[in-house]
Amino acid sequence: MSNELSEQQRLKTNGRIIVVSGPSGVGKGTLLKKVFQTAELPLELSVSATTRPPRPNERNGVEYHFLSPEEFHRRRENGEFLECFEVFRGGHWYGTLRSELESRCAAGKWVVLEIDVQGGLSVQRQYPDAVMIFIRPKNVDVLKERLAKRGTESQKSAEQRLQQASRELELAERYAHHIVNDDLDVAAGELRELLKGME
Ligand code: 5GP
Repeated sequence: MSNELSEQQRLKTNGRIIVVSGPSGVGKGTLLKKVFQTAELPLELSVSATTRPPRPNERNGVEYHFLSPEEFHRRRENGEFLECFEVFRGGHWYGTLRSELESRCAAGKWVVLEIDVQGGLSVQRQYPDAVMIFIRPKNVDVLKERLAKRGTESQKSAEQRLQQASRELELAERYAHHIVNDDLDVAAGELRELLKGME
C-alpha cells in the first residue's frame, strides 16, 4: 500500500505542462509531430476545444473537440476550461479543457498545450512551473508564404492571422525558450534537446 502511494507521488511530481506557442503558419504542428515521434519522452498532446468548423481531414476529438458555440459557452460557464479565448476578433473561441490536463499530469505525463500566446500566459499565471516555449519564424515573409500555400484561409482570415502574428511576437518576450523553425530537422533537434534536459 505504502509502495503504491509513493509510486503515485513520484508520478505526480514527474508530470509537466509544456506550453508551445507561435504564430499561425510557423509550422508548430509539423515540428511537434516530429518531436513526439522521436523524443522518447512521456509526451501527450492536449486536444483543445474550438467553435471553429473543422477543416477537411480534421476529426472531432483528434485535432480538436469541435463544439457548437452553445456547448462551448455552457462548459465555460461551468468552469471546465483552464483557459479560453476568442482567438481572432469577431471569430472563433478556443480553449483548454481542464480534463485534458489534470489526470494526465497526475499520471506523470508531459502534457503539451499548443495554444496561442494569451492562452499560454494565462496557463503560466496558474501554473508558474509550466515550461514556456515559443516557436518563431525566420521572418514574417515566411509566414505569409506558408499561409498562402496552405490555401485553407480566406484572404480576410489570412490577414487577421498575420496581424495576430505581429501581436504574438511582441508578447512572446515573456516566454523562457525560443526556437526558430527555419530548418525542420534543426528545430526538432533543438526542441528535443530542450525537453530531454528537463528529464
Ligand atoms: P487553428 O484554427 O489554425 O487551428 O488555430 C488558430 C490559433 O488558435 C492558433 O494560434 C492556436 O495556437 C490557437 N489555439 C488552439 N487551441 C487553443 C486553445 O486551447 N487555447 C488558446 N488560447 N488558443 C488555442
